[in-house]
Amino acid sequence: MVGDDSSGETGRGHVTDEKTICPFCGVGCGVRYDPEQGKGVGWNAPVNRRGELCPKGVAAFDTEGHDQRLTAPLVRNSAGELVEASWSEALDKVESGFREILDSHGPDALAFFASSNCTNEENYLVQKLARALGTNNVDNCSRLCHSSTVAAMTDRFGTGAMTNSIADLPDAEAFLVAGANPAEQHPVIFSSYVAPALKRGATLIHVDPRANATTRYADYHLPVKPGYDIPLLNAMCAVAVRENLADEVFLAERVEGVAEFREWLESVDVDAAAELAGVDPSELRDAAHDYAGVERAAVFTGMGMSQHHCGTANVHALLNLALLTGNVGKRGAGVNPLRGKNNVQGAGDVGALPDTLPGYRDVTDDEGRETISEVWGFEPPKTPGLTEVEATHRFGDEVRGAFVLGENIAATEPNANRVAAQLDSLDLLVVQDIFPTETTAHADVVLPASSWAEKAGTVTNTDRQVQRMRAVAELPGDARRDFELLCELGKRLVGDEISFDYTGPRDVFEELTSVTPIYGGMSYEGIGEGSQQWPFPEDAESGEAVLHRETFGDGSKRARLEPVEHVEPADEVGDDELVLTTGRVLSHYNSGAVTRRSGILTRLRSEDALQIHPDDASARGIDGGDRVVVENDRGRVEAMADVTPAIRRGTVFLTFHFADPLVNRLTGDALDPTAKIPEYKHSAVRVRVESSE
Ligand code: SF4
Repeated sequence: MVGDDSSGETGRGHVTDEKTICPFCGVGCGVRYDPEQGKGVGWNAPVNRRGELCPKGVAAFDTEGHDQRLTAPLVRNSAGELVEASWSEALDKVESGFREILDSHGPDALAFFASSNCTNEENYLVQKLARALGTNNVDNCSRLCHSSTVAAMTDRFGTGAMTNSIADLPDAEAFLVAGANPAEQHPVIFSSYVAPALKRGATLIHVDPRANATTRYADYHLPVKPGYDIPLLNAMCAVAVRENLADEVFLAERVEGVAEFREWLESVDVDAAAELAGVDPSELRDAAHDYAGVERAAVFTGMGMSQHHCGTANVHALLNLALLTGNVGKRGAGVNPLRGKNNVQGAGDVGALPDTLPGYRDVTDDEGRETISEVWGFEPPKTPGLTEVEATHRFGDEVRGAFVLGENIAATEPNANRVAAQLDSLDLLVVQDIFPTETTAHADVVLPASSWAEKAGTVTNTDRQVQRMRAVAELPGDARRDFELLCELGKRLVGDEISFDYTGPRDVFEELTSVTPIYGGMSYEGIGEGSQQWPFPEDAESGEAVLHRETFGDGSKRARLEPVEHVEPADEVGDDELVLTTGRVLSHYNSGAVTRRSGILTRLRSEDALQIHPDDASARGIDGGDRVVVENDRGRVEAMADVTPAIRRGTVFLTFHFADPLVNRLTGDALDPTAKIPEYKHSAVRVRVESSE
């Protein structure tokens, strides 16, 4: 049976044309299957109001009927091979293995990897399971993309989410896009909301070491050196103040620390800061003037800002600029992180984080734990758990067992060679997924699960809109729905005294709204084919909620300005080395576990090529199309050279979508001290022609 809340036995191989939500990026477009065309088409959902879709949405149903799907449980045998097993064998092994670890080493010897690509209900169940077993070792891959953004915004604004709604952003007169490439990575937001404003004359400032699809529309391209965003943003603040473009009314009413910040800003030498950041000082001045000189200027921020070991500080510097110019709490403005996966926002909202309970209540907050215990029937542990990367660093040591839901951590965590060795050092690795991946290759038990189209539930998009996905396709083989598997694991591992007895995602959603204050009052029926946006029910009907209009998320009227000093990147760059930075391309998605198998999306020759500047190529005797080796002390990959001035001199670029080249063999695992996000965007590497050793 397919349909809204189905969780029982199904037939096989049938996809309905019911409306659901795209499983890929955080835009959250409505998509449905068109049986005549054999692909996805858009419908007039809350975000893609005219049914627009990007190529990934069109290809979304390529998961259905795919011949590489996992269709039976796999268990590693005594010869070290993964072999098919019955469900009871597989689940018995999970139960006995985790019990043994719990008995011998205690609950903190387990780590749970939830998934920002799974529904709110599934993430809620994973974190409840971890906490019911006595550990806060639960995290999701939002740790790896925007945890630093969330940390800085929560600290300054009291809320770690887009301050504005997609719907009000066309009112902007200027866009500052920092470390993001929305024309390629969030295409429907760019084409349907940003581009119309640009056509009306809005200015686009693009801060990125690489000219890409977004840059084509930009009035200013500031090709910042990876890791040098802070001096660039400080210089923009200094220009705003020196040209009398600070918003004095806003500063007087809504901001604290103004005098101290102005005094500190006097020490900022704009020319020197621009040069340190690797951009032309006069371009920077003009761009700062155009951002600060309009009534409404919006920031989009992405992983180019957040994925540094100083990611939190980077975002703090960005928040200074928005506050200084009064671009907070009004339409067409704000600071707007573009979330990568379809439920990055929701996975954190519902508590799949090691330090916060559902609704971002701190695990150390006695009142929060007590409130939740009234619903759960047990009090969650109060010691913050390990983040994703911290957990992998302790695999085989304090952490003996791991459960991974729908993530490909062997490919997506930094320093992949180290991660691969650490995965093999676990006593028990359980992976629940839909395709064989680089991570299932290390697993002791693989549980074949449901694709996005085979399950129901809610997801929360990048501007806080909660929407409903429907089960529109049949499960393949003996695969089971994630929801059912998580309930089954809960019942087996925790017992009957704590409820994992839910009839469907609707049941779970009801419970999670009762313990997640920002979702309080939402309902499955209320969402229907539309959305409900948090904070609910403010402006729920319009879908245009602008946060911080009168007060910030913690109830205070004022946010503070805060001097931010430059932090040197973790990797020192030697004379013969270049800086590797990474990113996405339009047709692919994260580790590529799904999109690289798509029949509709094709892997273009240029997509896994190493972009290198002509001067750097020439200095190394590299021609376009050459096979090159990219290496450092952490690892080595090979790629084809794409010699192009689109990438700044001294920097090279690779995407992270492919197992070959697996770029995370090269990335470092130095962590941001606050958000524990790794330094993905600045890795020192040596590049040479493949045969030139
Ligand atoms: Fe899917 Fe994002 Fe493309 Fe919309 S923009 S179709 S949500 S991948």
